[in-house]
Amino acid sequence: MGAVAEPMPALSVLAPLTTPDFTTLSRYVRIYSDAVGLRDWEFEIMHRPPDEALAFVKVDVHELRKYAALWFCLDFRRLAAEFQRHCIVHELVHVHIAEMGFVFRSTREDLGRIHFEALDRSYLRAEEKAVDALTGVIAPALPVIDWCA
Ligand SMILES: [Zn+2]
Repeated sequence: MGAVAEPMPALSVLAPLTTPDFTTLSRYVRIYSDAVGLRDWEFEIMHRPPDEALAFVKVDVHELRKYAALWFCLDFRRLAAEFQRHCIVHELVHVHIAEMGFVFRSTREDLGRIHFEALDRSYLRAEEKAVDALTGVIAPALPVIDWCA
């Protein structure tokens, strides 16, 4: 909150993810998802960046199937190795918690827009804190991405 975004580098200095990079990401998403108890989930790596300009990684969880899609920022490889791992594990922990969000969001009509939006902000902040705390415990035990393997 309140952080000023760094100016975006010119596109020519970005190092967009390549097809082999997406293959590596798929392999590590599988390794990490198995490690956090999502062995029976399907993950699709989208080959375009997330809509949110400041997101490093984004996950969308299907409400009815054990399926989630992941988006990676264009220059994901330039992030520090430990931060790459943290970002992915963070999104995978969100997968475990997504059902609570679905239940909460189903109350939108009953609560009314003003009450819902106020609670939604608190809910999202609490979810991020919980997800990040759990990620901080889980991620260091997992390998960082080896882009050359
Ligand atoms: Zn998050």
